[in-house]
Amino acid sequence: MLIIMKVDAAPQEIAAVVERIEISGLKAHLSQGKERTIIGAIGDTRIARQESFTQFPGVDRIMPISRPYKLCSREFCPEDSTFKVQNVAIGGPQITIIAGPCSVESRSQMLEIAHAVKEAGAHMLRGGAFKPRTSPYAFQGMGEAGLELLAEAGRLTGLPTVTEVMATDQVELIASYTDMLQIGARNMQNFALLHAAGESQHPILLKRGMSATIEELLMAAEYILSHNNRRVILCERGIRTFETATRNTTDINAIPVLKSLSHLPVILDPSHSTGNWQYVSAVARAAVAAGADGLIVEVHQAPEQALSDGGQSLKPERFAAMVRQVRAIAEAVGRFVPASNQAISLSEISLPAVVEA
Ligand code: PEP
Ligand code: MN
Repeated sequence: MLIIMKVDAAPQEIAAVVERIEISGLKAHLSQGKERTIIGAIGDTRIARQESFTQFPGVDRIMPISRPYKLCSREFCPEDSTFKVQNVAIGGPQITIIAGPCSVESRSQMLEIAHAVKEAGAHMLRGGAFKPRTSPYAFQGMGEAGLELLAEAGRLTGLPTVTEVMATDQVELIASYTDMLQIGARNMQNFALLHAAGESQHPILLKRGMSATIEELLMAAEYILSHNNRRVILCERGIRTFETATRNTTDINAIPVLKSLSHLPVILDPSHSTGNWQYVSAVARAAVAAGADGLIVEVHQAPEQALSDGGQSLKPERFAAMVRQVRAIAEAVGRFVPASNQAISLSEISLPAVVEA
């Protein structure tokens, strides 16, 4: 249930309500709006008598939360959530662009592509080190060595980083290297991992499962938020349908639907949702027009040689063109794409000859 405090409720009145919630065996979550504080009493609310809260000074009214997900619902937090990952703002009027290769493959590849995506306007850097591959014989990622390279590329370009975590026992290690943890489509309902991601208090990029409903995605986010980790981005990445012309079907509807049901920022992955670089820019533009708060895009300097997802990876020049187009669309819908920080020239990055295995 939601306990809506009066506009002029005093801090000690809020504290008294929180104490009572906790005594009742529930968890109290505060949503500090521009005007007033809303306190979510989460848990089995049947055990707490709702009316008793109306007696507390400073309480305006009590409202049940009608949705099965609570903390990520708009009812709990009517205003859009915004937060920062290092110096990059997520949510709000700006569009955040995350770009980089599907997989970290080598130092030269990673440093070169990090520089290129930054130059083209990306705000954050992606790169998988632990890869969820359909085949056990496919490239599984470089593991910790890949995390080191991603972190180095992030440091040298000033771009905050994101990489996938596949198992609970990887959370601590991966969080020590990266600024945001990605939970991939295949793990969206790995509940132990969702709990661990929540406990980590690290920002989380949560991708929609390829066969998951919007409600299931929001329930997955709820696991993370239930640990009071509110820095969660929801990511639409295409769902399975009868259509075989593309790898997945971009559920563009999910963007306005998620934005209306939840206060969390919503981004789109046009790379996995199409599976083909030729469609990536068009779908990226559509996402921003539909209200997405950002994009996560796969970019590779030599897609034909990529160890994973080359067919859906943009070359840097095409990615730069996509950013220009997205910037125009953003302005048309009252948003903007911030300039990437001052780009570092490639000559400033030491790129020793890399001996490939
Ligand atoms: C990825 O981002 O490379 C990835 C594996 O994504 P998804 O989980 O959406 O398939
Ligand atoms: Mn990929």
